[in-house]
Amino acid sequence: MTTLDEGLERAASDNHAVALPLDLEWAGAFWEAFHCQRCGKCCTGDICKGAYVSTEVVANMAVHLGMSTKQFKKRYTYTDNGRRYVLQPCPFYQDGVCKLYHMHNARPTVCRIFPLDIPVDGKLTVNARCPEALTLARTLWKSFETGLQQKEAK
Ligand code: SF4
Ligand code: SF4
Repeated sequence: MTTLDEGLERAASDNHAVALPLDLEWAGAFWEAFHCQRCGKCCTGDICKGAYVSTEVVANMAVHLGMSTKQFKKRYTYTDNGRRYVLQPCPFYQDGVCKLYHMHNARPTVCRIFPLDIPVDGKLTVNARCPEALTLARTLWKSFETGLQQKEAK
């Protein structure tokens, strides 16, 4: 049987996210403990080749940058399988920071919630390519296991 550590290692080396069997309440614990190390990997193309953007966010980004949606799409995005992505290395990553960081409605949703992904079936999906998330996922899992064992012992 694959242990969680093995699963996380494999996910990290294969560039996959990993679903952790954590209840949604752990999302709060994750964010409380997560401290981005600003390594830039999630903006420079090391982790993914593009950041998915919805039509609404594309429109907001274009307005924020003072250009038409058409210009924005042509200059900063590409499509794959009918979905649109902002190019990576991301053009908005400058001098080690995201120039859109405080523009909540003009920043891809995937960036706002990274390194977590939208929960599926109550399970958090953590991108194990983020070094900090990998470390934290292990820690949380250990706490989770300990909690389960304590529950079972009662
Ligand atoms: S990969 Fe993780 S630690 Fe590095 S900048 Fe992105 S969120 Fe922060
Ligand atoms: S929009 Fe910001 S957070 Fe998202 S990939 Fe670009 S620089 Fe990084």
